[in-house]
Amino acid sequence: MSCKIDYQALPHLLENRVVLVTGAGDGIGRAAALQYAQHGATVILLGRTIEKLERVYDEIEALGGPQPAIFPLNFEGATLSDFDDMAKTLDKEFGRLDGLLHNAGLLGRITPFEQYDAELWEQVMQVNINGPVWMTQALLPLLKQSDDASIIFTSSSVGRKGRAYWGAYSVSKFATEGFVEVLADELEHQTNIRVNTLNPGATRTQMRRSAYPGEDPATLRTPNDIMPTYLWLMGPDSTGVSGQKFDAQPARV
Ligand code: NDP
Repeated sequence: MSCKIDYQALPHLLENRVVLVTGAGDGIGRAAALQYAQHGATVILLGRTIEKLERVYDEIEALGGPQPAIFPLNFEGATLSDFDDMAKTLDKEFGRLDGLLHNAGLLGRITPFEQYDAELWEQVMQVNINGPVWMTQALLPLLKQSDDASIIFTSSSVGRKGRAYWGAYSVSKFATEGFVEVLADELEHQTNIRVNTLNPGATRTQMRRSAYPGEDPATLRTPNDIMPTYLWLMGPDSTGVSGQKFDAQPARV
């Protein structure tokens, strides 16, 4: 597993690229959307809370980035036909997709498995793995239209080593790691599409606060601090790298 925290992206790294970011309204997804736009990408902001997406849209416009697009979608309840409609809309608007950052995520509850609620388990699996998988299937034809497409799935340290009480969240991230191995192997000869997993590591966001309420947020890296690896994996400097596991920051000691 490697980390590119010292990577320095050129200002026009993502020029002329169309990149979709899920969960773009808050936390790490918001930072990635802003950074991708600042480096020249046309960013499609996908998420469930339109006001948050509109704020990020305005921030991108204020930075002078290419005009973004907003795609409202709640992974809970999203159907195959929603993903097909999304692919048709993006095909009509852009004709291709050069990057896909699967970032949206749901923590669920940190609780002993014996008390884990079955409905919540299904929700977490839907948002963290099932929705992203079917969305990827729908978008593959558009990714194939790109000269050099990058798919990034967001993982977690509990998706690489199980930890007590992390339940569906941990299982969904293990599934993510497994799915990326399968897809990368299938796409081995489709040399224009690479797919990798990225573990952000402990980062100062709402999700982290919910998981560790007693922790001092000042001890954590911010979403902006971890963007070098997000930029490296999305841009042409990682062309040819596929089926790998990355960390966006060194593990905390
Ligand atoms: P946040 O909770 O801050 O942001 C999560 C984003 O996902 C929000 O934009 C949220 O939308 C969106 N989202 C949640 N549920 C849905 C849904 N049903 N449909 C569409 N969008 C949804 O979390 P982080 O930024 O911390 O997490 C980003 C990713 O990084 C996640 O995949 C997480 O598992 C992973 N991660 C984070 C770590 C950390 O320390 N922060 C560590 C390891 C992994 P809304 O704002 O509308 O709620």
